Amino acid sequence: MSKSPVWHPFHQHGLGEDIPLVTHAEGAVLHTADGRRVIDAISSWWVTTHGHNHPRIMQAVREQTEKLDQLIFAGWTHEPAETLARGLVDIMPDGLDHVFYSDSGSTSVEVALKMALGYWHNRGEPRHRVLVMEHSYHGDTIGAMSVGERGVFNRAYEALLFDVGTVPFPGSFPQPTYDALERFCGEGDAAAFIVEPLLLGAGGMLTYPPAVLAEMRAICARHGVLFIADEVMTGWGRTGTLLACEQAGVTPDILCLAKGLTGGSMPLAVTMATAPIFDAHYSSDRSKMFFHSSSFTANPIACAAAVANLAIWREEPVLDRIATLSARLGDKLDALSQHNQVINARQCGTMIAFDVEVGDDAGYLADIGPRLRGHFFANDVLIRPLGNTVYTMPPYCISQKDIDCVANVIAAGVESCARS
Ligand SMILES: *Cc1c(COP(=O)(O)O)cnc(C)c1O
Repeated sequence: MSKSPVWHPFHQHGLGEDIPLVTHAEGAVLHTADGRRVIDAISSWWVTTHGHNHPRIMQAVREQTEKLDQLIFAGWTHEPAETLARGLVDIMPDGLDHVFYSDSGSTSVEVALKMALGYWHNRGEPRHRVLVMEHSYHGDTIGAMSVGERGVFNRAYEALLFDVGTVPFPGSFPQPTYDALERFCGEGDAAAFIVEPLLLGAGGMLTYPPAVLAEMRAICARHGVLFIADEVMTGWGRTGTLLACEQAGVTPDILCLAKGLTGGSMPLAVTMATAPIFDAHYSSDRSKMFFHSSSFTANPIACAAAVANLAIWREEPVLDRIATLSARLGDKLDALSQHNQVINARQCGTMIAFDVEVGDDAGYLADIGPRLRGHFFANDVLIRPLGNTVYTMPPYCISQKDIDCVANVIAAGVESCARS
């Protein structure tokens, strides 16, 4: 076969690694063209919630393809978008009454930032500063990179990234986080604080307690600074509840959802907003409308998949499955932490993670990352460590047998890679 023209994301083609070809999938399992059965232990980059090719979601997609494929969404509408928006307003925290569609987590974040700045602009009180948390990840477009951690991922683009106010990641003593947030909020130009609730994903699967989230929300509220919850990864049950914010009793002013919105089957995102945000754009003056769109805003087939996801959440014991899976993963984490090169073991719902002790070679480009990934794949498990951080967050339907297999492969991988 001739060399593929495909340029892969977050992939160094120069290393010549084999790129597996997947032909089909079901539940937590991928099947490759060369006949392997691979366990998808990271839910295909954190999107697959109920499992691959979920019958109800696939059926909804098939039915929608018979009716309407795509429609301009500026001033036009269709049933899947309406049903989905109503369903989201019902199931999400009270007050998030407005639903803006886009196509990916990154765009849902861009939309959130534009909504926040538009809110202040249209009120004639221009505030431009966005506050962020150290180690955050909010996507790979320019705006989303600007509010995320700076590092090797975005060094080449740094000149284009806008200035933000960064509060420290809340360690076991969160007071410095509160103090920095309080200070930034008090400076008068702060428009919004954007944060990943409870669990920072790409930043290294870092966790902090609900009480910290609640306190940060309270500080923002006291200063009228908009609170944006980026639940692109944490939403849809990942952290044990539908939203991570629920565990802190927090309702954000703006909420970003993507990944699991369609059960992970189709690209779709929403940015939900409270009435004051919408009302600041509501006017007979056309210059105050919300200036954002993309060609495929609220694609009907993607919306139909998301409507099916909502039905699964409403009608099936999803939270029970998540609780069972979380307990099983917790047992595995306990066993893995016995290994003397395993440090910083942590869990948040259906995500378990730890760092491999590697001395000075820590961080995203740590050598051990690709070696571990190779070991896992050689043993038919899809896990992509973040440098020396190993984690798993499988689809909720994974069997006990496959969890056992994943845990055994992780243990053996740490055993062999940490030594070499
Ligand atoms: C994945 C992710 C994004 C970006 O979503 P994409 O769909 O990949 O653009 C944004 N925020 C968080 C917290 C994420 O985990």
